[in-house]
Amino acid sequence: MRFGCHISTKNGYLGAARTAKAIGAAAFQYFPKNPRSLRIKKFDHRDAERCAAFCAEHHIASIGHSAYGCNLSTDQHQRQAVIDCLLNDLDITNACGSIGTVVHFGAYHGDDPLEGYKRMIDTLNEILFKWDGDSFILIENNAGKGDQMGLTLEELVKIRELTERPEKIGFCFDTCHAFAAGLWTGTNWTEVMDKGKEIGYFQHLKVVHLNNSVYPAGSRRDRHANLKSGQIKLEHLLEFCASEVIRELPLILETPSSDSYSHIHEINDLKSWMPQTS
Ligand SMILES: [Zn+2]
Repeated sequence: MRFGCHISTKNGYLGAARTAKAIGAAAFQYFPKNPRSLRIKKFDHRDAERCAAFCAEHHIASIGHSAYGCNLSTDQHQRQAVIDCLLNDLDITNACGSIGTVVHFGAYHGDDPLEGYKRMIDTLNEILFKWDGDSFILIENNAGKGDQMGLTLEELVKIRELTERPEKIGFCFDTCHAFAAGLWTGTNWTEVMDKGKEIGYFQHLKVVHLNNSVYPAGSRRDRHANLKSGQIKLEHLLEFCASEVIRELPLILETPSSDSYSHIHEINDLKSWMPQTS
């Protein structure tokens, strides 16, 4: 299985790919640019191309994650900045040979929920109209903190279908968010899987964020925990990983990392918990 984690680009994109290899990760996620700003980055194309070549040589999958402020349902004031930010991320992930760039489902706090979805579709259409690279926009399910958009697989499938170029959109499934949203309770994976298959979710699922949750199912609170220490039982997480619709995908840890329990430890644990598949 392709286990990995989020990795810093402090030594560039190639540096992040080298770190992934050094820690035994078969996949990694990175921020194409500063995640706390929407500012455009003039990136080092040679570094990005070397990253792509290194990952191809060592069979490492990579994924970008867009800035936190990239809200697809934002208002007119920020809309252009979000569009430019995502196009810049797509450019970078494409040059790095990455599958795509993850962006959260839109967030909207106004009175009319339909307006939130409409803005999201308009923003995606404008981005995709200008985008002809191979990297996908990977829409991630929300935890439900603050607003109620993007908590169900139906919404993800529907938004994708309603855009003018759905073929450029894939999905990212975050286990902590799904648990916090009450979509996945730990014990209902078969049900979620059947529903996802029925509505055509899984054929567009490209990456998984593999996180446990500090808070209980349905809490709508988003805080990631290490796999063996959160509210989702480890056996349920492992059952999830081994399921037919998940096991071929890159599984990225976005869990806390410390000197005493780093991502190297957690990836090694995952490999030992799932020896038959790793
Ligand atoms: Zn995530």
